[in-house]
Amino acid sequence: MEFKDFNRRNFIAAVTTTTVATALSSIFPVMGNTKRTSGKLALLGGTPIRAKVWPKWPAMLADDKMMESIIKTTKSGIWSRIQSPTGTVATFEKEYARLTGTNFCVGTGSGTQALSTCVEALGLGPGDEVITSPYSDFGTVSAILTSRALPVLADLDRESFQMDPDEVEKRINKNTRAIIPVHIMGMPCNMEKIMALAKKHNLKVIEDACQVNFARYQGKQVGAIGDLGCFSFQASKQISCGEGGAIIGNDAELMDRCFTVQNHGTNRKGSNVTIGPKYRMNEFEGAILMGQLSSAKERFERRNVNAAYLSSKLKGFKGLVPQKQYEGTESSGYYKYAMSYHKEHFNNVERSKFLKALAAEGINLSPYIARGFHVEPWIDEILNLKEYKTMYSAARLKRYREEMNFPNCDLICNEEMVVLEGSGSLLGSTQDMDDVINAIMKVYENRDKL
Ligand SMILES: *Cc1c(COP(=O)(O)O)cnc(C)c1O
Repeated sequence: MEFKDFNRRNFIAAVTTTTVATALSSIFPVMGNTKRTSGKLALLGGTPIRAKVWPKWPAMLADDKMMESIIKTTKSGIWSRIQSPTGTVATFEKEYARLTGTNFCVGTGSGTQALSTCVEALGLGPGDEVITSPYSDFGTVSAILTSRALPVLADLDRESFQMDPDEVEKRINKNTRAIIPVHIMGMPCNMEKIMALAKKHNLKVIEDACQVNFARYQGKQVGAIGDLGCFSFQASKQISCGEGGAIIGNDAELMDRCFTVQNHGTNRKGSNVTIGPKYRMNEFEGAILMGQLSSAKERFERRNVNAAYLSSKLKGFKGLVPQKQYEGTESSGYYKYAMSYHKEHFNNVERSKFLKALAAEGINLSPYIARGFHVEPWIDEILNLKEYKTMYSAARLKRYREEMNFPNCDLICNEEMVVLEGSGSLLGSTQDMDDVINAIMKVYENRDKL
């Protein structure tokens, strides 16, 4: 399709949605329902596309059901999970396992704690190498470091923003014990290739599913494809209790070990059997989760519908390309709706300026993660620690430093990534999505004025 056709075709498609036109003409009566995108940029004194505020996350979860759930727990006096086998945490674990189609779930105090518990439960530690993404929440790396294993990073696929499986394979050596694929933005990784690599090299797989609930890939539930899957319920996440997390899995013995590890090494029978921090989820966190769980799937579906709508509108547009989906991706968690910004199609306007112009139109997209983990200070810190100097050869640590070079990750962070918030914006109506598209088109049509 011709690039120059894009704006007209999509513009017409957007404004002929009568509901949109009506809604917008009531906000901007003088503008009527035509030629909105060719108006003067709000950044340069024109009228913004959107005046309405977006849904606020996670405050929008605070409904009567949530309040009831919190009050009930407060009054019950059951504030810690060890006080009751049928409290909110145990109930949540059961329900979350059911919703994700897995046999077992263990709640934790955060996604980082969930990951850390899995690393410890799988016996990964000093001398071991674990391969993961340079583009994630630092909790992913932190979980490996906490057990004094070596986090080995692999560069990204420029279009999916996920670890490139070919780069992963290049990093595998005789000390590699596990892979932690990160389903970044909630979009499933190339799990087919990652699982094949794991099988070939006899590696464990911990899925960092902290940005995804419920998504499906090749007929399977994301988070239940590897040995263990980890989730986060931190305030920004799609299921949220401020700080919280969970592990899911189908192996009874391994999941029992996860329970023991996060229970300061004390097993379900009360014996103190191993090393473990205390990472237990508390009953108030369980209450907040139970207060929203019944509507979480609806929100998941809403995000998927809106994302599909945005992608259909952006189809053929080279200036802003939605995150690539691997074959067999049935749905995404849509923690964020992510796109690659290609300035060469925007008259070479820098991303920061594009985002500023959009924000002035009432549409807030962000560059998300500022830089990859390979350009952060923790590397020099660990390379000077006794544990690492003792457990890894000098040659290995030298090479480790030299290999911290990821051009695709840099390009994504520095120039290309733009995201729309999944919880909040992506929970809006179709009209809200038209605002997003119309604002993008307006900025695009005025690109030579920026
Ligand atoms: C949020 C997040 C984590 C960490 O979870 P917390 O609950 O914040 O500790 C880990 N990995 C990814 C990809 C995340 O988005």
